[in-house]
Amino acid sequence: MKVYIDGQFYEKNEAKVSVFDHGVLYGDGVFEGIRSYNGRVFRLREHLDRLYDSAKAILLDVPMTKKEMEEIVCQAIRTNGLKDAYIRVLVTRGVGDLGLDMRKCLKASIIIIADKIQLYPEEVYNRGLTLMVSHLRRVGPTQLSPTIKSLNYLNNILARAEASRANCDEAILLNEQGYVSECSGDNIFFIRDNKLYTPPVWVGILEGITRMVAMELGEKQLGLHVEEKVFTLPQLYRADEVFVTGTGAEIIGVIKVNGRVIGDGKPGPITKNLIAAFRDYVKTPEAGVEAYQTAAV
Ligand code: PMP
Repeated sequence: MKVYIDGQFYEKNEAKVSVFDHGVLYGDGVFEGIRSYNGRVFRLREHLDRLYDSAKAILLDVPMTKKEMEEIVCQAIRTNGLKDAYIRVLVTRGVGDLGLDMRKCLKASIIIIADKIQLYPEEVYNRGLTLMVSHLRRVGPTQLSPTIKSLNYLNNILARAEASRANCDEAILLNEQGYVSECSGDNIFFIRDNKLYTPPVWVGILEGITRMVAMELGEKQLGLHVEEKVFTLPQLYRADEVFVTGTGAEIIGVIKVNGRVIGDGKPGPITKNLIAAFRDYVKTPEAGVEAYQTAAV
């Protein structure tokens, strides 16, 4: 496998960054996780928009245009001969000294890893996930905005660890007011009376690309009423169906929240229809950018 770092592709074991990179020292940087399906990079432009927006918010100049980045992401896929891939794009603050001062970091670093996707086994989609609520709260907009996809994931990682230790698959984080925000690496939805609900951005969530697609498909393909709504845990417990969305997870049903069985304890019919609609949609030309059709620069 070859990894792109600042203008060059390196063999995996030669792909190294400096210990003085503030991405390493402080988690100072931003990233994206992207999938490609049969060589088509799913919603690549939306992912790059979010990456550049996150970078701007943390005063980070990405030393490359979006168009160039788009081409290099495609090149990373081609170089590794991949069709179904998971692509990780990182922009770190770059090499500085041991202090916090970002002005000492002269140039941001760009890293692109294109690897085979580790799919959840089909069994997980059939069985559904169990969730628990973490005691950690989603950092709110008065702190580091949850809309910034930064390299600071420790809050989410610890929430996920808490879930794993309780033998659950994912952790739900509430916001400071106790409203449901999202999971450690996924957005959350529920269905009640054929209506689809998900928390609005202001509650404190990452604006997931899969979330956006699930909302679009729910409305257009399944004809559901789709609403962004603030809700609490009891509203989730009494949902007909619950599911989570994310680039890695795609769309997966949820069967238990904090020990409460959701619906009849199996992924629900609407969730299943949405998963099917999603799987059809990723194959369509509108779903993204063709990695093997763009010309090399
Ligand atoms: N929330 C968080 C905190 C995440 O890390 C992710 C994964 N990037 C998501 C939601 C889902 O976002 P997306 O659908 O864009 O992958």
